Amino acid sequence: MRRKRSKHTVFNFVLLLLSTAGLLFIVITMLTEDGSGSRSVQTSAFATPEPDGLPSDEAKAPPLPPSPTASPPPAPTPEPTPVYQEATLIAVGDIMMHKPQIPGAYDKVKKRYDFSEYFKQVTPLFEQGDWVMANLETPIAGASYGYTGYPSFNAPIELLDALDDAGVNILTNANNHVLDKGEKGLLRTLEHLKQYSFAIKGSAASREEADANVIVERNGIKMGILAYTYGTNGIPIPEGKPYMVNMIDENKIIADIKKTKEAGADLVTIALHFGTEYQTQPNEEQKRLSRKLIAEGADIIAGSHPHVIQPYEVLQATDGKGGTRQGLIIYSLGNFISNQRDNTKDYGVIFKVHIRKNATNGTVELKEITSIPTWVHRYQPDRNYRYRILPVEQTIKDSSDSLLTAADYKSLKTHLALLRNRLESMR
Ligand SMILES: [Zn+2]
Repeated sequence: MRRKRSKHTVFNFVLLLLSTAGLLFIVITMLTEDGSGSRSVQTSAFATPEPDGLPSDEAKAPPLPPSPTASPPPAPTPEPTPVYQEATLIAVGDIMMHKPQIPGAYDKVKKRYDFSEYFKQVTPLFEQGDWVMANLETPIAGASYGYTGYPSFNAPIELLDALDDAGVNILTNANNHVLDKGEKGLLRTLEHLKQYSFAIKGSAASREEADANVIVERNGIKMGILAYTYGTNGIPIPEGKPYMVNMIDENKIIADIKKTKEAGADLVTIALHFGTEYQTQPNEEQKRLSRKLIAEGADIIAGSHPHVIQPYEVLQATDGKGGTRQGLIIYSLGNFISNQRDNTKDYGVIFKVHIRKNATNGTVELKEITSIPTWVHRYQPDRNYRYRILPVEQTIKDSSDSLLTAADYKSLKTHLALLRNRLESMR
């Protein structure tokens, strides 16, 4: 009996001890929570609540009465597991429409042009992109202006059908041919472009339109698009309407990068129409300007105008959040479609950039950068030329294209090696 009593007393004593310990623990926990005071509140739209975090009103509630069974101390709040969002950018160079390209695309039965053959072999690659951008280097002013080639371009509107069907969803048109058909021709072009769902940057019908941020969201990643040209082939920008064409102006571009980021862009891609025609390496000004813009917050520079491929480079820059980020400069994407031949003017490149955003802290990485050289195959089944854009490596690998000769394959192999060397020469 005594033993039993004594056992009972010991049991009560242990219970008391445990309760006190429990109470102490809760009080200490409350104090430390209050002491740390400002648990950082994440305001990002993509922020995920910390798994073990207590809502603040619960944290301020009075301590619970001591419980006879004290729970074990909670594990320290773990770092939140990053949530990633991913999307892919596809960028190509100049979409040109030289005079010899036009008649072969006319469908006499349907009484309309059809440029879909251009893009058939690259459409599966475009399908891998969420953003698919190109430089439209011709007005689309309508039939009343006549369809003309160099030096004053005007292409049939059906070109836009083909681009749209192939999966292009961003068109920039700040380039030296944007005013080939004058102010009215540009306004007509913009009207035509707006009949499609393309995001458009580079020229504008009004000040308001020029100032509007173009931010294209894919899989939760917001990409800001900017576009500028070195000039307009001596055709003056319409009097009193400087907003109509975005000219390269370093300070303006830097201000636009900041404005686009403030408007919510996670990264900024800039189409720059610049450089020296037919030069296979960037000039000093291309390098200086592009590197400066990366340092000022741009993430990707998609260059065009030289009509040949130039190398790309990847730079490290600060991300403004105490970390580093990568900047990609593609100095020239070359001609994607044109009638220009020889000295690699008939080659272009598709750049595929896999982008990953850490939705927990908002940082963006260029995870994978792939370059896919392309060749414009021109052939002549009748009086008129036909054109197709072929991905070089895939074409060589398949070796089954009935329209290509042994000499074509040999030339593709030689050029592939040359272009790979050129592309990688600044890495
Ligand atoms: Zn150009």
